[in-house]
Amino acid sequence: MTRAREAVLAALDAAEEPLSAAAVLGRLGESCCDQATVYRALDYLEDAGLAESFVLRCSEHGTERYFVSASRPHRHWFHCEACHRFVDIGACRLGGLAAELERERGFQVRRHSMYFSGLCPECKGAKAGTPASRR
Ligand SMILES: [Zn+2]
Ligand SMILES: [Zn+2]
Repeated sequence: MTRAREAVLAALDAAEEPLSAAAVLGRLGESCCDQATVYRALDYLEDAGLAESFVLRCSEHGTERYFVSASRPHRHWFHCEACHRFVDIGACRLGGLAAELERERGFQVRRHSMYFSGLCPECKGAKAGTPASRR
């Protein structure tokens, strides 16, 4: 592993939530590596099974690819459309569905991605137009 790949993986490992490439770059600083290097490192890490990603579209960030380290068990996330937090919703419960598809349809399922989006409890409780304060 190159130094840049190690640094990118360490940033994903330390993160409490999925990170976009821009967020990884923000955590590492320009002195570590440039944007193109971060993108290449993320692709490498995902191909090597060390990270996984999903694409999410939201009104504030547009369409972004988000990365998480594969060092923690595969899990899914809820994205709040008001405060733009990611909330960890726990370990994947789709294994049964994947096994069913393999058994009944003959697929070999290698990966999937899924997220939920909507309002977190704090924003749901806040008055319309006044989302909970951002972190
Ligand atoms: Zn929220
Ligand atoms: Zn899953």
